[in-house]
Amino acid sequence: MSKQNTLAILKPDTVAAGNAGKVISVIEDSPLEIVAMRFLKLSLNQAKGFYAVHKKRPFFKDLCRFMTSGPVVVMVLQGEDAIATWRDMMGPTNSKEAPKGTIRRAFGTDIERNAVHGSDAPETAAEEIGYFFPGIDLV
Ligand code: ADP
Ligand code: MG
Repeated sequence: MSKQNTLAILKPDTVAAGNAGKVISVIEDSPLEIVAMRFLKLSLNQAKGFYAVHKKRPFFKDLCRFMTSGPVVVMVLQGEDAIATWRDMMGPTNSKEAPKGTIRRAFGTDIERNAVHGSDAPETAAEEIGYFFPGIDLV
């Protein structure tokens, strides 16, 4: 285990439902630390760029429409094993299959509207952090 950074997004469903503060509370009660945060509405190009790896998938267009439907909160979370820790806290992609105690179970709806994003590997975490926080100097 070592200290890592990961990118988290509170998706438009979370912000629109007034659950952003609740998810931030869950993070504050966890071993992870919020070391950067922005509140913004993604442009279509920002959403397409962020999810470029999924551009051939049938759900891509809907996903980009959803991600631009309202404001989001983008954060960098830091801690021991932050990438896996945050993904464990989120639960699986499909909120309907997410176990009790996970954020996607508590705040998500289905496989698309699943409340939160988390990076899946050190390389993608670094890329995603740079995408929203260019030039950020994290210690
Ligand atoms: P995760 O967010 O768990 O890493 P993926 O990277 O596979 O999941 O997918 C990115 C996002 O695309 C998901 O969080 C979800 O919002 C959406 N998504 C994934 N699979 C589907 C699907 N089969 N149908 C609709 N939306 C999907
Ligand atoms: Mg993913």
